[in-house]
Amino acid sequence: MNKIISLKVKSAHIKSLRAGVPLIKKEAIVNHNDVKVEGTIIELVDEKNKFLAKGYYGKQNKGIGWVLSREQKEVIDQPFFEKKLKTALENRRSLFNANDTTAFRVFNGEGDGIGGFTIDYFDGYYLISWYSEGIYCFKDYVLKSLSNLVDYKGLYEKKRFAEKGTYIEDDDFIGGERAEFPLIVKENGINFAIYLNESAMVGVFLDQRDVRKTIRDKYSKGKRVLNTFSYTGAFSVAAALGGAIKTTSVDLANRSKSKTIEQFSVNGIDYESHDIIVEDVFNYFKYAVRTKATFDMVILDPPSFARSKKNTFSAGKDYPDLLEKAITITEKDGIIVASSNCSTFGMEKFKSFIEKAFDQTGDKYKVLEEFGLPRDFKTIKEFKEGNYLKVVFIQKIT
Ligand code: SAH
Repeated sequence: MNKIISLKVKSAHIKSLRAGVPLIKKEAIVNHNDVKVEGTIIELVDEKNKFLAKGYYGKQNKGIGWVLSREQKEVIDQPFFEKKLKTALENRRSLFNANDTTAFRVFNGEGDGIGGFTIDYFDGYYLISWYSEGIYCFKDYVLKSLSNLVDYKGLYEKKRFAEKGTYIEDDDFIGGERAEFPLIVKENGINFAIYLNESAMVGVFLDQRDVRKTIRDKYSKGKRVLNTFSYTGAFSVAAALGGAIKTTSVDLANRSKSKTIEQFSVNGIDYESHDIIVEDVFNYFKYAVRTKATFDMVILDPPSFARSKKNTFSAGKDYPDLLEKAITITEKDGIIVASSNCSTFGMEKFKSFIEKAFDQTGDKYKVLEEFGLPRDFKTIKEFKEGNYLKVVFIQKIT
């Protein structure tokens, strides 16, 4: 291990650090140039060199490291990692015991006490995602802890710390037995085909579990559903299983078509009775308006930021316009499921986008239900940005 480096926190940032904020930001540190080696253990001190917290240095899009402990004597070693992981695994006991769900998050970074990495469970296989080179230095601690705590079939990893936080293409297999892909997992009885060794995205976003269940159980029977930014069509599958007459999935990625066909097929649904369209959502909206197509439910789950040939979408700026387009093609009494994973705004702001959009179209609406992250995506109140997911079920009244 490298020697511990002491970093001085600027006085304006001491209060929030003391209040429990775990992210270490560059602008909060006087001598941030003193630390250069990823994975270095750092001690944060005030202007009188009084100990505040200890953590590690690891550059991520949002900061330069994470606080790991507020005890000066606590040693950041393998048992430290194992203790955090053990608690996290115990917190997911009910999910491990559920027989209709075999995919969920078991470790959620700072929410479980160590920022910078997550672990997801896929029917006996564990997928570790590393968000900085710094945390990757602790890989052996994490692997040893997992080996001590669980009987895994195999381990995979995603190195998500290339420039701009993108994914480093590699063989992601790191231990145990290789899985056969697609790996079929279950979520509240819905099957999903998973690929742990293809790209940063594995086929399903686990944080939408409760939303998919709600769509299936409460809103789909007899409905015509439009699923925009549909990726592998997970919401469409949930709607179809809930009795939707027809779903229309729209995504501009070519791969989305075969991936969506696969998700329908592993659930025994005839994909030919559903529309799967590879197109820019913004073009599709124009087409729908032109042909007077309407839907009983429109699902909006765009990325925070996306650039296509003709359109740039930035959730913080363009979400009201996106909603406006959805409102136009939603039937009276129909439902819009508006979702955003953008961490730069919270639920309150998101609801103001909804109000703005309905103001613009002159329609009335009612919020029926709201969702944030499910419990396995554990967050802490001291780090609001970690609680990024916002999903609102809206009914268009007039
Ligand atoms: N709703 C999905 C996840 C969406 S991920 C789910 O629940 O699984 C974001 C998706 O948006 C990606 O598949 C990407 O290809 C797609 N996308 C980005 N910009 C788009 C655009 N302008 N038109 C259509 N799809 C777009």
